Amino acid sequence: MRSECIVLSVANHKGGVGKTSTAINLACAFAGTRRRVLLIDLDPQGSATVSILRKRPTGLISSGNALMSEASLVPCIKPYNLAKFDLVPANDDLTAFCVSCINEEGKEFRLKNALSSLRLIYDLIIIDCPPALNLLTINALCASDDLIIPTTCDYFAVDGLSSLLRLFEKLKTDGMSNVRLMGIVRTLYSLGEPLAKKISEDLKSNLGTLLFNTIIPYTSLISEAPSMGRPVILYDRSCLGSRAYLSLAGEILKRMEQNRLTQAPAAQEPDANQAPDAYQEPEVNQAPAPAPEQSTAADSDDDYLSDDDLPDYAEPRANSLIGNRPQKAAIAAPQDAASAVPTDAPTAAPPADVAAATEAVANNNLPQ
Ligand code: ADP
Ligand code: MG
Repeated sequence: MRSECIVLSVANHKGGVGKTSTAINLACAFAGTRRRVLLIDLDPQGSATVSILRKRPTGLISSGNALMSEASLVPCIKPYNLAKFDLVPANDDLTAFCVSCINEEGKEFRLKNALSSLRLIYDLIIIDCPPALNLLTINALCASDDLIIPTTCDYFAVDGLSSLLRLFEKLKTDGMSNVRLMGIVRTLYSLGEPLAKKISEDLKSNLGTLLFNTIIPYTSLISEAPSMGRPVILYDRSCLGSRAYLSLAGEILKRMEQNRLTQAPAAQEPDANQAPDAYQEPEVNQAPAPAPEQSTAADSDDDYLSDDDLPDYAEPRANSLIGNRPQKAAIAAPQDAASAVPTDAPTAAPPADVAAATEAVANNNLPQ
């Protein structure tokens, strides 16, 4: 029996911190391990959609319309064959949803209800949130089991984290969401930049294990890849950015497994008083994870990763990596990866309490 579907939001109300890049590359990494993955673009700007489909879909069937009318999201799903995951694209109708539903009861749970049937189909649903603390982000947090917050290591980004953490706490306190903060990931990290290093170290000492070990370094290929209609992992699988995203996916898998062992599943049940969408097989050509004997030449084992190919090698060091881009090669085995990118595993800090972390980020964590 397969494990429960996990819904994972990638959120930060600040724009340009790597939410979309993180969501797309995580979807790609997990789909690469034969997990059935759905990426939901919940940003009306549709960056994830454009990165993948090269255009914003038009027409009546949109996720915004579906959320407004409490209809199924299934007709909105588009397969992304290159990376073997599915996408719910975004367009401006998502903005209309925020406006038109503002006074409606239960508006915060529209996405959660829509996902109840999709949880039966996918192993992992990743939500790329908009750069705002609005109804869309609230819907994402109410629908999610776990939250990942990407942040850049700069003053304003870290300063803004506390607002998102406060919303996260409020939704939980009000009983609206069971979402767990899985971790905060440092993105667009400029190796060798002293201020980024200082802020990164401050985050580490204040957040403890809430901070992922993996840092996503600034890598020009990550910003180049969307213009080629693909995640960086499929653009240059051996570049530093790809290896960092594979590493992050490995860390996330470990945290999911820890959560599964230690905690009851969260946000699994739809609201009792709100009927879920009727179950309907989506018209997508991403079939359930194929058994090995069903693999074809065009879809061979070589196209897939194993969980061990998502190494937890973590923190890049400036002195070992600047100007030292690795040669193109197959994904390194965990041992090779570990030696290629030295681990700087955190000291055994206890998991930080979110309230304490919010306080720390707001008050103490900014460089003098
Ligand atoms: P957000 O979704 O938070 O607005 P994006 O993922 O869209 O952030 O990233 C903002 C811009 O930065 C995009 O042009 C993207 O390609 C680029 N980018 C994201 N991560 C990196 C990185 N690690 N290195 C270089 N460019 C990046
Ligand atoms: Mg984005």
